[in-house]
Amino acid sequence: MSRLFHWLAGSSGENARQAPSSPSLESQRVPALHGKELAKGFGQGETRTLAVQDVSLPLHKNELTLLMGPSGSGKSTLLALISGLLRPDAGQVHALGEEMWTHSNVELERFRLKHCSYIFQGCNLFPALTARQQLELVLRWGEGASHSAARERSTAMLTQLGLAKKSHLRPAQLSGGEKQRVAIARALVKEPSFLFADEPTSALDWDNGQQVIDMLHQAAHERGAMVLVVTHDSRLIPYADRVHHMEDGRLVSEAGPTQPVLHQQSAPPALPLTKPVFQPRRVSVQALLQEASA
Ligand code: ADP
Repeated sequence: MSRLFHWLAGSSGENARQAPSSPSLESQRVPALHGKELAKGFGQGETRTLAVQDVSLPLHKNELTLLMGPSGSGKSTLLALISGLLRPDAGQVHALGEEMWTHSNVELERFRLKHCSYIFQGCNLFPALTARQQLELVLRWGEGASHSAARERSTAMLTQLGLAKKSHLRPAQLSGGEKQRVAIARALVKEPSFLFADEPTSALDWDNGQQVIDMLHQAAHERGAMVLVVTHDSRLIPYADRVHHMEDGRLVSEAGPTQPVLHQQSAPPALPLTKPVFQPRRVSVQALLQEASA
């Protein structure tokens, strides 16, 4: 296993859950993820689009960072580059001095499975699975958790996010807000070091949107995760520790750290911070789906 993964494994323990540093210690902090001079283009010749151009972005644990800007400005592409989903044409993504994109696809996949969670606008829930089974699948496939352990942790997470009474329902039986909260529960249940969300509130009314951003804020501040959120929604700004703006593929401004968010009334209590043992196992998704829906 490379030093990158040794470091990440260590960093997802107690150190990852320290309180955020004060702004005066800012310059001494090493980013958990650091995109440097990233560039990505699509297409050829006259139709070529430079989606991201020479962007550097440091991202810290215990912080919720917003990436804002008009549609087509390159936000989703930058998120994909820095989260290990899309290979850049140029630039690097560093994790404590190691370069993510020099690793093989298998190592990258392992890194993402172990340390990253992703939340997308469409929720991407499996239609055939109940809310609880969506979470169980992540734990059984990603960590090799036993059936009973996966069930226990999934039930605990859904309960803490106020979804206990919905745990037996399938996506078609849930509202848009409930589906997005299940998607967030699924992202949080494996206690990721890095949480990436692309427009997580854009399909929600403000009550549901507020619950979602509360959860993401809590993931950063109470669970020690690095949280990066791509959004158009300026109502999320008060919840952010940092706000970056993009235009035409470039970062044009940064604001932050902001004042801490006071609105936490609807936020659920934090999970117990037990770290699961990582025991990957070779098993097909199809088999897990069949097992989970049995
Ligand atoms: P945003 O998230 O800010 O809306 P995107 O990162 O999705 O912006 O897109 C930035 C630019 O890159 C846009 O012009 C978009 O059309 C283009 N683009 C993004 N993904 C692709 C792709 N897979 N193929 C071709 N062009 C793409």
